[in-house]
Amino acid sequence: MLSWDQTPSLAPSLEPMRCCRAWVEIDLAALRHNISQFRHLLPNSTQLMAVVKADAYGHGAVTVAQTALQSGATWLGVATVPEGIELRAAGVQAPILVMGAVNSPEEMQAIAHWRLQPTLVSPKQALVFADTLGRLAAARPVQVHLKIDTGMSRLGFPWAEAVDFVRFVRQLPHLKIDSLYSHLATADDPDPTVMQQQQQRFATAIENLRREYLLPARLHLANTAATLADPTLHYDQVRVGLGLYGLYPAPHLGHRIALQPVMQIKARITHLKEVPAGTGISYGHQYRCDRPIQLAVVGIGYADGVPRVLSNRLQVIVKGRLAQQVGAITMDQLMVDVSGIPRLQEGDVVTLLGRDGPHSISPDDWATMANTISWEILCGFKHRLPRIAIEQPLPTSTVVQC
Ligand SMILES: *Cc1c(COP(=O)(O)O)cnc(C)c1O
Repeated sequence: MLSWDQTPSLAPSLEPMRCCRAWVEIDLAALRHNISQFRHLLPNSTQLMAVVKADAYGHGAVTVAQTALQSGATWLGVATVPEGIELRAAGVQAPILVMGAVNSPEEMQAIAHWRLQPTLVSPKQALVFADTLGRLAAARPVQVHLKIDTGMSRLGFPWAEAVDFVRFVRQLPHLKIDSLYSHLATADDPDPTVMQQQQQRFATAIENLRREYLLPARLHLANTAATLADPTLHYDQVRVGLGLYGLYPAPHLGHRIALQPVMQIKARITHLKEVPAGTGISYGHQYRCDRPIQLAVVGIGYADGVPRVLSNRLQVIVKGRLAQQVGAITMDQLMVDVSGIPRLQEGDVVTLLGRDGPHSISPDDWATMANTISWEILCGFKHRLPRIAIEQPLPTSTVVQC
């Protein structure tokens, strides 16, 4: 008889099976291309921060961070302390800014231990930080970044009081101010009025600080949209997220540089059958075919990140041809009308996002239909889908091995 600890070696590996159903393809060549496009847009004196929060917008933070750093990015931006730790634990050495709120002493200790760089938004928070570091008898000061609110009304100290804030933090032990920054609320709006008001406030804060000889060494304000919209917003560093992944924040910002989408979503046909006219399809029979159709069951669903609200509206690409998704999208599977597409077999690959032949489908298409933004579509793909990094988009006939 087998003992308990012998059985695992006899168990079949599940890894290739997971890959068979559906996966996320990450095109590293496209990522490098996008980084170099931004690098060409920016003066040498402006650093490029690759924003890799939320697992690099669903693309896989470690792979994206390493590729971005090899291709011209010099900083990384994350939202949370664990996101920063994940990068350090993978051996990433570049400076990492934690852009989200860090308030507990435990998080502050982790920041010091992992050499992350926090965003400070209030004197109280700065004081707790300095106290915590004092108790740790930290050997080196922690580099901090002061954030002011110029109109986003999210994290940040009031811009008009920037001088008091900087003066207060400067006299605390264990902290070294590296930069002053703010975040724009409407950089993707074709009407620049609000953005310009925010920039004006940022400029006023800078002027007031300069007059008091308190100006931090580095300044930054721009996300992707602002980076594309106006070179006067570049300052010493830009914080680019969406654009790295090959998408534009708004159509009017699409002409400055040529970006290539990095993510493709693919899944396999797991079951294929003819169904007669009048057949109800999927939960609730929301869809009933009015003629006999060839129906493909595809191994991806809303639990993987395909928004259920797109049921009966989604199109997918099968063998280079567009095909209509039909019936309610279910948790793990969805159905496609593949009538008229010749020589289909179970195991064939369906492209949900990406290009196959003459057709391509973008997260922007999904976002428009789902009444949301492409950022949310990208971040929505769950870890049940393996991320497969490739140098060139794979032809859909390729068998994917993990
Ligand atoms: C997420 C984020 C960015 C990146 O925004 P994109 O629009 O994706 O480029 C930049 N700065 C801050 C503070 C952020 O939170």
